[in-house]
Amino acid sequence: MKVVADLHLHSKYSRAVSKEMVLSTMAEWGEKKGIDLLGTADWTHPLWFKELETQLEEDGEGVYKVKGSESKTRYLLTCEIANIYTKGDKGRRIHTVFMAPSLGVVRKINDELKKRGGNLMSDGRPILGFSMEDMCEIVWGIDERVIVMPAHIWTPWFSLFGSKSGFNSVEECFGKYADRIEVVETGLSSDPVMNWRIKDLEKRSIVSFGDAHSPRKLGREVTVMELKGNKMTFEGISKALRKGDKENKILYTIEFHPEEGKYQYTGHRNCKVIQSPEETRKKGTVCHVCGKGLTVGVMHRVEELAEVKEDLVPIKKTNKVGVVGYYDPKDKARPPYVMTVPLQEIVSEAVGVGVGSKKVQEMYEQMIDQLGNEFEILLKTKIDKIIGVAGKRIGEAIEKVRKGDMSVDPGFDGEFGKVKIWSEGKKIEDKTPTEQQTLF
Ligand SMILES: [Zn+2]
Ligand SMILES: [Zn+2]
Repeated sequence: MKVVADLHLHSKYSRAVSKEMVLSTMAEWGEKKGIDLLGTADWTHPLWFKELETQLEEDGEGVYKVKGSESKTRYLLTCEIANIYTKGDKGRRIHTVFMAPSLGVVRKINDELKKRGGNLMSDGRPILGFSMEDMCEIVWGIDERVIVMPAHIWTPWFSLFGSKSGFNSVEECFGKYADRIEVVETGLSSDPVMNWRIKDLEKRSIVSFGDAHSPRKLGREVTVMELKGNKMTFEGISKALRKGDKENKILYTIEFHPEEGKYQYTGHRNCKVIQSPEETRKKGTVCHVCGKGLTVGVMHRVEELAEVKEDLVPIKKTNKVGVVGYYDPKDKARPPYVMTVPLQEIVSEAVGVGVGSKKVQEMYEQMIDQLGNEFEILLKTKIDKIIGVAGKRIGEAIEKVRKGDMSVDPGFDGEFGKVKIWSEGKKIEDKTPTEQQTLF
């Protein structure tokens, strides 16, 4: 079976998260978006864990659904932990997603973390002082099946490879456990092609999830898997997320444009300094306004860690409704990816009013009612059919997004970037011809 999964998100118990992030509302939006499997998020939080225990029932080994609900959305037990500690005389701040095979295992891990002095009540994404090696020892001491996935690995302030917070290799961070770190999450500011340049990631799976803080933002990025059989299980999902299994595998990922992320370019928000990787190579990473170190963006950080310094140009192939897929030119076994823009943002730009406006919301609901879920509309539905329901301008906008015919203002130093469908700004680079194919 084919499974669209978003396994990194947060519940209402995490800071700056919408009160609507509760299991039933998340499941409802999962269906609208076309997501089959969501992370529960935040299983470390005592109150949320109580909700998980009372509201969920198992439906397939290690996979859960909301009790008595008709919803098709399933849940995997996930949480994110922020580890802040010192290693090699440097302060480290690493975010990691943990996925557990059962509520029983979660309970044991939570008990162990509390026993060691972890404050789990403070936030849905708790801050703990253990090193990543200690974290591995704790979770794998309880159950070896737990999946440990470094989160949004390029974010400057909170990640494995972060320019201000992380390490230069998986080994440096995870020590003797490095070989068992088999899957990493790219984060919104980076797309797979950047990650394909990193030697350290060659033997690891590269996945994408959305890190949503509200139901509408679910699935900004997702990973599409093929699982054996017609029921999801933790074991099948775990095999798919690692490399090497033929029957359970990643088919492709759906990506946000990395320019829209908060940290693509290097810069200082308050000093109004923004630099592309080329400019950073020439000018360095010191701010010419305030004299302090700039926040090094994801693109420059990738260049620092990449063995091969030239840009990698992905092979582009188009499916029959015009969606471009991007493939690794050196490693044919690597899952490809497609890029899109959330449907509400497309509608907003097409009709010229804000995303939160009534007009956009009504059009969005009408399209979902009449055409199917959001990913279906963005990636599969024929443009004529979309025009029939939503009009010519929205149809044209979706067609442009499918082709990647847009322009961008990259994000930097915590400022979200903007992708515009109709502006005359910097066009998204397009270096290769596109071949015809019909893979997804
Ligand atoms: Zn995080
Ligand atoms: Zn500055």
